Amino acid sequence: MQIRTRIAPSPTGMLHVGTARTALFSWLFAKQNKGEFVLRVEDTDLERSDPRFEKDIIDGLRWLGIDWDNKTLYRQSERLELYEKFLKKLLEEKKAFYCSHSEEELAREREEQMKRKDAPRHICEWREGGANTGIIRLKNNFDGDIKFNDMIRGEISFKASLLGDFSLAKHLQAPLYNFAVVIDDYEMQISHVIRGEDHIPNTPKQVLIQQALNIPAPRYAHLPLILGKDRSKMSKRDGATSINEYKKDGYVADALINFIALLGWHGREDREIFSREELVAEFSFERIQKGGAVFDIDKLNWMNKEYIKSMDARDVAKIAADFLPTEWREIIKNNEKLWTRIIDLVRDRIVKFSDVPEFVDYFFQNPFYPKEMLRWKGKQNASDIVRHLNKINDLADSVLDSNFTKENLEKEIMPYAEKEGRGDVLWPFRVSLCGKQHSPGPFEMAAVLGRSEVLTRVKSAVALFG
Ligand code: GLU
Repeated sequence: MQIRTRIAPSPTGMLHVGTARTALFSWLFAKQNKGEFVLRVEDTDLERSDPRFEKDIIDGLRWLGIDWDNKTLYRQSERLELYEKFLKKLLEEKKAFYCSHSEEELAREREEQMKRKDAPRHICEWREGGANTGIIRLKNNFDGDIKFNDMIRGEISFKASLLGDFSLAKHLQAPLYNFAVVIDDYEMQISHVIRGEDHIPNTPKQVLIQQALNIPAPRYAHLPLILGKDRSKMSKRDGATSINEYKKDGYVADALINFIALLGWHGREDREIFSREELVAEFSFERIQKGGAVFDIDKLNWMNKEYIKSMDARDVAKIAADFLPTEWREIIKNNEKLWTRIIDLVRDRIVKFSDVPEFVDYFFQNPFYPKEMLRWKGKQNASDIVRHLNKINDLADSVLDSNFTKENLEKEIMPYAEKEGRGDVLWPFRVSLCGKQHSPGPFEMAAVLGRSEVLTRVKSAVALFG
C-alpha cells in the first residue's frame, strides 16, 4: 500500500507545538515508508482564516525542515467545486437534505436539550426533503454503534443516533470541516490520518460520510494531548506559542524536532537524543502513549544546549552572529577569527542563541558594573583589591603583545594568586574584565581581549576605589 499522510492546518492561528507534532509524526511515518506527505490548508472558515497565519504555518514547517511532497500546497478554498460535486451527489441520492431551520430555532433546541442533559443533536423535520435552501445535513439513519480502529487507542465506538442529522455544509459552496476533510482525504488518497485526540469526536461523523459516499476510510491515529508542566492544558507560560518564536529565540530546529518527537512517543530504550534520520527509522505507533504528554520547557532547554555543544564550531559562530546587534556584527564582519575565539569561550553555556549578546557584550563595549562586585565573596577590603589589581597590571604588562596568550598570562599571574589566595586575586581580575558574576575564566578572556584592553580595564577597576 502506498502510504500517504497529511497535515491539514486551519489558518486560524499560528503554527503551534500541537500542529507541529502532528506534522512531524505524519512526516516521519511517510518517510519511513517511502510514502508521501501532503500539506493541505483548511481555510473553509473564511471569517477566521487569515493569510498571515498561513504564512506563519508555512514558515514554521519550512524552518523545522518538515517538507511536503510535490511542493504543492492545497487550499480548500480553491477546491470548492470538488466538494460541491459530492454534496450534489448526496442530495440527489437523498442521503443529504436542506434544512431550513433558522439559527435561533436551532439554538433554542440545543438549549433545551442541554437543560434536559441530553446530547445536543438535531433530527430534522426536513430530512425527507421539502426544503431547498439552508444548511445541508446528512440524513443519519444509522442506528447502532459506529466503530473505528484507532492505531493508538484500539477500537473506539460511538452511538450513531447521538449525532443526529449533522451538518455538512452551509450551502453548496461552503462545506464544513467534517465534510471537506473526508472528500480531501479520499481524493488525495490519504492512507493514514494522524491528528490530535481532540478530533476523536469528529471521526464517527467522518465515518458516516464515507459510508454515505461509499468510499473507503483511511486508518486513524489520534495523538495524546499536550499538557503544561502542571498537567493542565498547555498555556503561554509553558511555551504555547508560534513555532517561529522558538526560531527567533535561537532554538536549533533539530533540537526542537527531537523534543517534539518525544511529546507522547519514546524510543526503545530511555534514550533522549535522536537525529532526524534516527527518528525516521525508529518511529512507531506502538510507542505512542495514550495519556497526555507533558511539555517541559526545561527539557527543551537542556536538549538545545546539548545540540549546540555538539555543533560544528563554525556553524555555532555563524548562527550566533545573527543574534548580535548590528553594530557588533559590523565589528566582527572583518574579524571572523576574533569572533570564533569569543564564541568558543561561551559556547558551552549557550542554552539558546538569543543568550549570546549578554554572554559576549563585554567584548564589544566597556563592562559596566557596581564596584561592589569586585569584592571577592562580597567582603574583600578595598586596599587588598587595589593591591592585587595593581600587581596583576604589572604582571600582565610584562607579557608582550605577541605573547599575550592564556598560558603565558597564567604563568605570570598564577604563582601570585596561589600565594595570596586564588579567589582574592582572580575574582577581582575576572570582574574587572567582564563586569559579570559569571563568565569564562580571566586568563581565557584576557587573551581574547588583548594586552592594551586588559591593562585599561584593570586600571579602570583600580580607579573605582581611587
Ligand atoms: N483543520 C483541522 C485542524 O486544524 C484538521 C484536522 C484533521 O487533521 O482532520 O485541526
